[in-house]
Amino acid sequence: MHMKSFGAALTVTGSMHLLTLGGRQVLVDCGLFQGNDDMDARNRESFDFDVRGLDGVILTHAHLDHVGRLPLLVRGGYQGPIHCTAPTAALAETVLLDSARLQEDGYRTDLRHARRQGREADVLPPLYEEADVHRTLALLRPDLDFGQTTTVAGVEVTPQRAGHILGSAYLLLKSSDGRLIMSGDLGNRESGLQMDFTPPPEADAVVIETTYANRTHRAWDETLLEFRDALRAAVRANGKILIPTFAIERAQVILYTLKHLMDAGEVPRIPVFLDSPMATRATNEYFEFGDELIPPVRDALRAGEDPFRPSTLHVVPTSAESQRLNRYDGPAIIMAGNGMMTGGRIQHHLKHHLWKPSTTLIIVSYQSPSSLGGRIVTGADHVRIMGEDIAVQAHVHTIGGFSAHADQDDLLAFLGTTGKPHVWLVHGEPEVMDAFVPVLDQQGLKGDLVPNRQEVDLLGSGYPQGRPPGVVLDVTPGTVRPEAGE
Ligand SMILES: [Zn+2]
Repeated sequence: MHMKSFGAALTVTGSMHLLTLGGRQVLVDCGLFQGNDDMDARNRESFDFDVRGLDGVILTHAHLDHVGRLPLLVRGGYQGPIHCTAPTAALAETVLLDSARLQEDGYRTDLRHARRQGREADVLPPLYEEADVHRTLALLRPDLDFGQTTTVAGVEVTPQRAGHILGSAYLLLKSSDGRLIMSGDLGNRESGLQMDFTPPPEADAVVIETTYANRTHRAWDETLLEFRDALRAAVRANGKILIPTFAIERAQVILYTLKHLMDAGEVPRIPVFLDSPMATRATNEYFEFGDELIPPVRDALRAGEDPFRPSTLHVVPTSAESQRLNRYDGPAIIMAGNGMMTGGRIQHHLKHHLWKPSTTLIIVSYQSPSSLGGRIVTGADHVRIMGEDIAVQAHVHTIGGFSAHADQDDLLAFLGTTGKPHVWLVHGEPEVMDAFVPVLDQQGLKGDLVPNRQEVDLLGSGYPQGRPPGVVLDVTPGTVRPEAGE
């Protein structure tokens, strides 16, 4: 039972794990590195394994940092099936097409700038294009169902609910080598929409994500009150309320919460503008696959209601209409991508409103320190947006409790039913994982950090203190937490 990781090893993005189980080679996830230029460059590193020799590919969920390099795998010659749940297949289409569009747009912008400087030859081509995505989508097999065992390349695979985003699964993989659990991303059990993860069975080894393995999230009820109070204060200030929103899960949680607060009379019914075509598409998938969401949402959907539609919701389809919002008078909530404010329609809203003391910026997701959002959160008084220097005079509220990731208590609860497996840590920053190893030790579990591009024997003895020897730590400041789904 061996594993070689090509991403999310000593870092949080780029999830990609090559498993050798019972003599067969199965790839779990094939995600994009995200966060800054150094991370972007890693997406261009070649796969140093025989892509055509893979016996199968399985996806845990549709976030870009778990699916975003699939088109490169297909370009490299992979033509076999890519197994996933039906909601993951639907969301992956939205995510990958958007990713190709961003790649192509970025390339055109870089080329335009480079031409003026006479260095056109330096511009790298887009990582992949829409045609590559279509060839990838043709290989998706939405044949994984929660709790049902399927045989993939001779390995028995049982996906179970991970509670992270729509369709997210963790995998129990059974082969002649033993029982392995691949956690994928695990949900926050205080999440607004997702059911809790299913308690896992016993296993010989567990590969577990550790994004927030060193902290505890605020309880959902407290988060709701915090959000309500921020909204009330913002309405009193009589300005715009900007909520930078990732398109998958966070947008739907915020829409659902706004509807709940407005219907209960907790927050005035001011206009809500959903200014993100990708979030609008993703919300349609939540509607489509609503049966797997928490009972109040599922029941509302079955009764023909729309739990994601506050009565004052306006969907903004085109950029021209998005621009016209700048002239809209009076208080209104504007939800726009991207979530870390590094691009997308949120930027022109910030340019028009961030300098006004009447504006409120409500931050509901992780902000990498190097991102525009990160600079605002850490108190910058001026920021550069679309070539202009803008004063930060808006009220800024940060609400951390909307996270879609398991915290330390959730991770320990997950491991609590797995017996005494060898625990391998991925999808986290090294210092967070280092802090988690002694916590595991207290539970009688051996925890080890997974090195990058170095094969490990998952049933082997691991490393003293859990750290692989001689491994240069891949700590890149400003690494993105994996909510970066767009
Ligand atoms: Zn994720």
